[in-house]
Amino acid sequence: MHIKLPASLRAAIHSEIARSGRSLDAIVRDALAAYFETSLHTVFQVSTSGALVAGVYDREASVATILDHGDFGLGTFTGLDGEMIILDGRAYHADVSGTVTEAPEDAGVPFAIVTRFASEQQAAIAEVTSFSHLEALCDPFRASGNIFYAMRLDGRFAAVKARAVSPPPPGTKLVDAVKTQHEFTLTDIEGTLVGIWSPEFSGPFSVAGYHFHFISRDRLKGGHVLDIKADRLTLQVEPLTQFHLALPETEAFLKAHISGDTAAALAFAEHDH
Ligand SMILES: [Zn+2]
Repeated sequence: MHIKLPASLRAAIHSEIARSGRSLDAIVRDALAAYFETSLHTVFQVSTSGALVAGVYDREASVATILDHGDFGLGTFTGLDGEMIILDGRAYHADVSGTVTEAPEDAGVPFAIVTRFASEQQAAIAEVTSFSHLEALCDPFRASGNIFYAMRLDGRFAAVKARAVSPPPPGTKLVDAVKTQHEFTLTDIEGTLVGIWSPEFSGPFSVAGYHFHFISRDRLKGGHVLDIKADRLTLQVEPLTQFHLALPETEAFLKAHISGDTAAALAFAEHDH
């Protein structure tokens, strides 16, 4: 795209680059998004992690609605049927064996967190030896602990230990549902980690800390990441400063007892144990 700009606008852009340290791409993108009233740097989340912990897995939105609000993110499907991966504007379903298929637009979604991914920063990440090592390598790219971040890592993975949930009996609480999760390890595989980092204060309604789903480059394998090993990855980071929470109107949600203290249950459900 080549655009002719008056000198005054060019000067304004250059002084903004000098002032903020942001890239030309980022500044022009934000200005255009404001002009067209398109939301950038916005998290769109359906339902709450607390609702999942309480066993509310009903259909709250469709895949089509999720894709209207974001092209990058993660979630699950009605009845806790597998893991959702949203990447480059397409929604994928990882089943209990880690086999991925594209999700139909009318598939039901009880929980998802997505954004329109617009990377602000790109970096090469050296050898990654574990999940906690990955967290430590990503940490310097977060300037704040009080906003959300989208993180995308592409490359070749020596090993990805992942899980996918299988549908439990209706009403099963999340901690019990994940006891029957299926874990699998993908080795020597190219792909992408789709990640959202959420601040600690968001714990009662989101998943605090790092939350990664993996999808292979051929879009055939994936799941919720428990552990990883990789040699060299490309990291892209976007800070997210707007949060849109779509609360369900289903009877199951309206009548559920949703605790504000879900940290222990989520830590058990989301991490390797
Ligand atoms: Zn997950």
